[in-house]
Amino acid sequence: MEVDPVAISQGQTLRVSLKGSRPWSRISCRFDGRNYSFYSTENNTRRVLLPVPLESEPRTTSLEVKESGYLRWRRESFPVRISPGTFSKRKIRLPPAKMALFSDSQIPQAREKMMQALSTLTASQLWQGTFDIPVEGQMTSPFGGLRQISRDAPWRHHLGVDFGTPKNSEVRAANYGKVVLAERLPLQGGIILLNHGQGVVSGYLHLAKILVREGDFVQKGQKIGLTGSEGLSTAPHLHWGLYLWETPVDPMEWTHREF
Ligand SMILES: [Zn+2]
Repeated sequence: MEVDPVAISQGQTLRVSLKGSRPWSRISCRFDGRNYSFYSTENNTRRVLLPVPLESEPRTTSLEVKESGYLRWRRESFPVRISPGTFSKRKIRLPPAKMALFSDSQIPQAREKMMQALSTLTASQLWQGTFDIPVEGQMTSPFGGLRQISRDAPWRHHLGVDFGTPKNSEVRAANYGKVVLAERLPLQGGIILLNHGQGVVSGYLHLAKILVREGDFVQKGQKIGLTGSEGLSTAPHLHWGLYLWETPVDPMEWTHREF
């Protein structure tokens, strides 16, 4: 059993691999209050990629792994240390026209659509290698940063990475995947969600134009949309998110660490 890394900070991705397991055995684990199932990868290895949610309490916790099969049963426990992330704080003030978006009657339906797309689980791994940054531009807001959008609003984590771009800049798929959502939503603007399999979904928000349709398979680097400032946005940019089992994790980690 390999747990990588054993010390991790909020918003990062944890990899657990198990070599030499019996093909018929069922393997699952429990981490930070949630259950996950393992997927098969090459070389007779089972693996699960786990999100450490931004709101996880910093502490040493245990990862419980359970393997059960014909005449065989085992349970192992590993300590994992969750450390606090370092998050910048920034006040953002939205113009009244953008604040009005919060009263859009389509919001509950939009949230439902997003949740449904994010929870698409498919067993095969579609992505290959590291993820590409999907757009050219400067990073203007990092993952996890705390932001407040009006004087009385609560401080909330930024759930993706923002890149400032001229309007209508090309947005490219960060990796191979299947389009599970491609439409216009009140707060997200033009949004594309790509399912990469095994609980991994990438998101592209505030698009002025969408160039793919639900059900399409897209190659890594394929042009999928054009940047804009639709929805909750003050200037043209791409909000790029990565979700692991519906939980936002830092997409930048996936651009240099291969899973
Ligand atoms: Zn953003």
